[in-house]
Amino acid sequence: MRRAVFLDRDGTINQEKEYLYRIEEFEFVPGAPEAIRMLNQAGFFVVVVTNQSGVGRGYYTEDDVETLHHHISQELEQYGARVDAWMYCPHHPAGKGSYSLPCTCRKPQPGMLLEAARRFGLLLEQSVMIGDKSADISAARAAGCRPILVRSGYGAAEESCIQGNFEVYDDLLCAAISLCGSE
Ligand SMILES: [Mg+2]
Ligand SMILES: [Zn+2]
Repeated sequence: MRRAVFLDRDGTINQEKEYLYRIEEFEFVPGAPEAIRMLNQAGFFVVVVTNQSGVGRGYYTEDDVETLHHHISQELEQYGARVDAWMYCPHHPAGKGSYSLPCTCRKPQPGMLLEAARRFGLLLEQSVMIGDKSADISAARAAGCRPILVRSGYGAAEESCIQGNFEVYDDLLCAAISLCGSE
């Protein structure tokens, strides 16, 4: 059983761009690759959990999502960093066809975290979820993980609206430095 860091994608790993799927528009949040490398080296299992309702809404396809994730993995490799598992929710209540089905994976629901824990043997109570939205904090709590907000993406705007206890850092690198206990 391993401890994990669950990472939101848009606004946390990469700069927030509405309904990002084009590789040309992909841009890391500064320090994100180094942060992921630190988490790898500290022994965390790194899982990306991302809502991609653009699929359900018909803006892009699951293939587009997977192509982008493959690209991000290749970019991370240049930094010696690695995402151990990619999970995404393609659904949306206003989505088309089967994508509109009620799902339990779209954050703030914890379905992706629970599924990853089951599939990869992760200890949720010793794991962390880092993201830039209140939905990330809620998903963390629902899964029994430690919630961390980053101020990149929508984080700075969402910070004052989120109730209860959570940690906040300026960005993923600051959060990783804190989690890994050293520079
Ligand atoms: Mg986000
Ligand atoms: Zn879903």
